[in-house]
Amino acid sequence: MSGHLAIVGLGPGDTRYLTAEAVEALAAAQALYGYGPYLDRVPVRAHQSRRASDNREERTRAAAALAHAAQGARVAVVSGGDPGVFAMAAAVCEEIESGPASWRALDVSIVPGITAMLAVAAQIGAPLGHDFCALSLSDNLKPWQLIEQRLDAASGAGFVLALYNPVSRARPWQFAAAIERLRRHLPPSTPVVFGRAVGRPDERINVVTLDAADATQADMATLVIVGSRETRVIERPGRSPLVYTSRAATEVSA
Ligand code: SAH
Repeated sequence: MSGHLAIVGLGPGDTRYLTAEAVEALAAAQALYGYGPYLDRVPVRAHQSRRASDNREERTRAAAALAHAAQGARVAVVSGGDPGVFAMAAAVCEEIESGPASWRALDVSIVPGITAMLAVAAQIGAPLGHDFCALSLSDNLKPWQLIEQRLDAASGAGFVLALYNPVSRARPWQFAAAIERLRRHLPPSTPVVFGRAVGRPDERINVVTLDAADATQADMATLVIVGSRETRVIERPGRSPLVYTSRAATEVSA
């Protein structure tokens, strides 16, 4: 089968975050699939079709892209950040696993991108400088109880947390509940970084302490990093603070 499907990470925003491999994969595609605002970031090329779909239609989009590639086309599915982090690469794999056997014969490549947590971390210092984990707070595809369990386990074990999908219109209360949960395990002085629209013109980064963190500080375009007991804030005269997590950890958390 001659079809090809590339799942391409666009990075957090600005084109300077695109890798050379992503630029090549986008230029080589005959058809582009993706969430509208992500597709809008890709320069328009003649003879390249584009099919925009809604954010929530990941499986349908993945199936449509696979079916198109199976006809022998070079197809690219675009994803914000990295396609393997809470994004399209897993949706495509789910479709390949449950779809027609012929999809398993397709040439599939996954082109990595800079994921939001790395872009936010780089803007503020090195909050992910020691052990960390990434969680999506979206309970669209998993029960809220499981998210609470994972918040308890990860914060209790001393991991820094990168929280994706803190808020959406359909999920108004979850982020406040997550903060409440984390306060059971972490000191009030724990640094919390809110990185909004990083890599875009309306980028905004705020650092607060866990006791001052509240849900109004996050929206759909925000990535939240909650520190561990080893995360510190270095205040600097005339410059924004550096937030970092020390590479040395001594304390075993309760
Ligand atoms: N695949 C993407 C994540 C998709 S989940 C990636 O690797 O970055 C969507 C969530 O990612 C958003 O709710 C937000 O938490 C985070 N996010 C995506 N782009 C962002 C950006 N530019 N700045 C801050 N957070 C971002």
